[in-house]
Amino acid sequence: MNKRKIPSRCVERLSIYRRALLQDRRLFGPSIFSHELAFACRLTAAQVRRDLMLIGYSGSPTSGYEVRRLLSSIGALLDPPHVCEVAIVGMGHLGRSIAAYLVDRSPKIHLTVAFDVNPEKIGNTFSGVPCHAVDKLDEVVSSKGITLGILTVPSEHAQEAAERLVRAGVSGILNFAPACLHLPEKIHVENIDMTVVLEKVAFFACGSQRRKGNIDDHSSTSNVDQTAP
Ligand code: NAD
Repeated sequence: MNKRKIPSRCVERLSIYRRALLQDRRLFGPSIFSHELAFACRLTAAQVRRDLMLIGYSGSPTSGYEVRRLLSSIGALLDPPHVCEVAIVGMGHLGRSIAAYLVDRSPKIHLTVAFDVNPEKIGNTFSGVPCHAVDKLDEVVSSKGITLGILTVPSEHAQEAAERLVRAGVSGILNFAPACLHLPEKIHVENIDMTVVLEKVAFFACGSQRRKGNIDDHSSTSNVDQTAP
């Protein structure tokens, strides 16, 4: 299967299905119907069926989807073939929170090192992650085979830090800094900005004249945007 043909929103929803299947495992039996999974994820059953057909998994009309096989099909698509080593740049408030959150979060994605410019951070370990001087980034990232980077530096340093990560061999960046990065197309960048999402919530929740159904994209049928990070 060509992974690049799977739409990005579908990849996000598959991750949400897996989380629901794992978190609510005791609620579901050995198998689950599309409407049950849809209910748990606040999506429609048709959307669930479309997504699972895209990854080549079809259930039975009488017994639904076998949960164990479904989890393994989703894992086969989503999980990288090898453990992905990750570096985080900027060990301030957000960087340290992310490091603490990511401990043992995924067996296939491992936060290996951190970088900062602050001498008080350099040489310390945060949630088990050693922090190096950013001057050592090229050397450490390439020697450890790090492929993913997380950016939690002030916005004015984001572009430079991103370019440094790319030069060292990183091919994907999760950017938390409020800055638009200009990187080669082959680098996959995902931006997360709480302000943007909060403004969206405020737009729909506080705009009394506006009705979500009139304005939003037509793919979502519930009042929960479950594909947001
Ligand atoms: P912070 O000041 O606590 O931390 C920034 C860290 O980056 C510091 O440790 C600093 O020494 C380090 N740093 C500065 N320049 C550097 C460089 N060139 N290379 C490496 N490290 C460098 O700030 P914070 O509150 O942790 O926020 C970090 C970033 O995340 C900011 O850009 C902020 O706007 C953004 N942020 C985003 C969200 C979101 O929802 N995406 C939420 C909070 C903060």
